[in-house]
Amino acid sequence: MRFRVRKSRNKTHSVEENYAELRHKMVRKQIRERGIADSRVLEVMEKVPRHRFVESSFLSEAYSDHALPIADNQTISQPYIVALMTELLELQPGFKVLEIGTGCGYQTAVLAEIVGQVYTVEIIESLAIGAQSRLDMFGYRNVQLKIGNGYFGWQEHAPYDGILVAAAPKNIPDRLINQLANGGRLVLPIGDSDQELILIRKTDRGIKQTAITGVRFVPMTGGERVMDG
Ligand code: SAH
Repeated sequence: MRFRVRKSRNKTHSVEENYAELRHKMVRKQIRERGIADSRVLEVMEKVPRHRFVESSFLSEAYSDHALPIADNQTISQPYIVALMTELLELQPGFKVLEIGTGCGYQTAVLAEIVGQVYTVEIIESLAIGAQSRLDMFGYRNVQLKIGNGYFGWQEHAPYDGILVAAAPKNIPDRLINQLANGGRLVLPIGDSDQELILIRKTDRGIKQTAITGVRFVPMTGGERVMDG
């Protein structure tokens, strides 16, 4: 219960109550009506104050049905896509999850509300610093963030029960599959201008891959190869 909506005594709604109403409507129209049914996902989308993660110039669009620009030409994903990717991971409270592409930290907060431990990697330092301060301000003690290239995952804390990638590589990064636990799920966009959201399940008998839907993410940068010298 990190975010309580304060009830004001008078009839005029407080600013936070207005945002809570917008959030409620967002969950109903954009998320539940489109088929997201996992109650934990719905609860958390109703709780995390998306407006506190967006740039002040986009405050009025914080709960709109689309992605929004954040700093450094990056974006905060559309609410429905955040909910869909979170649901696809079939999270349990005890899970350890890796996120690639922290951005503003909104998806990180959504994950941290549901699972025990979130590790998140962001390649752009200024975004990482911003996300860290927001996550600290909201008191998420179960998040560890590092600045780095997500193609390499975060080997030190592997294996992960779930991995969520918020930037699109052209191919599935091998290291992320390697860092996935047996029984774990990886959800990521793949492609260039034409991208598809892919769900990967790792089982005893190998990797199962399912195409979910067409999406549009920023490209994954940094490259897959270790630089020589
Ligand atoms: N989940 C984020 C979405 C951010 S957009 C949010 O809710 O705001 C995708 C992010 O991935 C950007 O911040 C971008 O800088 C980052 N990114 C791109 N390539 C990356 C890489 N190789 N490793 C880590 N982060 C990367």
